[in-house]
Amino acid sequence: AAVIVAIDGPSGTGKSSTSKSVAAQLGLSYLDTGAQYRAITWWMVSNGIDVTDPSAIAAAAGKPEIVSGTDPSAPTITVDGTDVAGPIRTQEVTSKVSAVSAVPEVRTRITELQRSIAKSAQRGIVVEGRDIGTTVLPDADLKIFLTASPEARAARRSGELKGVDVAATREALIKRDAADSGRKTSPLAKADDAVEVDTTELTLKQVIECVVTLIEE
Ligand code: C5P
Repeated sequence: AAVIVAIDGPSGTGKSSTSKSVAAQLGLSYLDTGAQYRAITWWMVSNGIDVTDPSAIAAAAGKPEIVSGTDPSAPTITVDGTDVAGPIRTQEVTSKVSAVSAVPEVRTRITELQRSIAKSAQRGIVVEGRDIGTTVLPDADLKIFLTASPEARAARRSGELKGVDVAATREALIKRDAADSGRKTSPLAKADDAVEVDTTELTLKQVIECVVTLIEE
């Protein structure tokens, strides 16, 4: 039967790298749900929607067509047929994604998309995000919640974004986590039945091994 794995946690915990590698090793599909929220945010910004106005976001939430390619060795994301893999990583989108993804109509839309992708994955799928184990796929076969100290997370993020200093990255991360956790709708939370893995002192290879072992158990 298809195996469904939910990997949640804040940014900078190695969620994406871990999820992709685990999926590739086990021949499973892979879904980056953050990329979907970033894609709908990119569309709102590109279409002049005021992201501080939840009713404007809600009214437009059904418009963009978001398609995710789930091959872990080459994941893709398009909006109305346009490849947005690059544009969704800009500072502008990153600073606006928490506000857009807090709108219930956006969450409903993206959650439905996520469930249908997970359902159609032949061998199974690794889905990474914030609310996968709690809300999107509460019946997942395995739920992992990745954590790391704010210092470790900021160091990893600033390593990814060349030339950005650690202190500034740390502040931005903490701000985005606070916005994500404080939302009434689908906050970042560990499911009661999730296995928590603190990655602060672990290498990426160790985290991957740990998750693969948990899946195979
Ligand atoms: O994972 P990533 O950092 O790319 O996610 C970007 C943003 O998308 C998060 O800060 C959060 O606001 C939103 N998100 C969400 N629910 C998810 C995944 C991401 O609200 N399942």
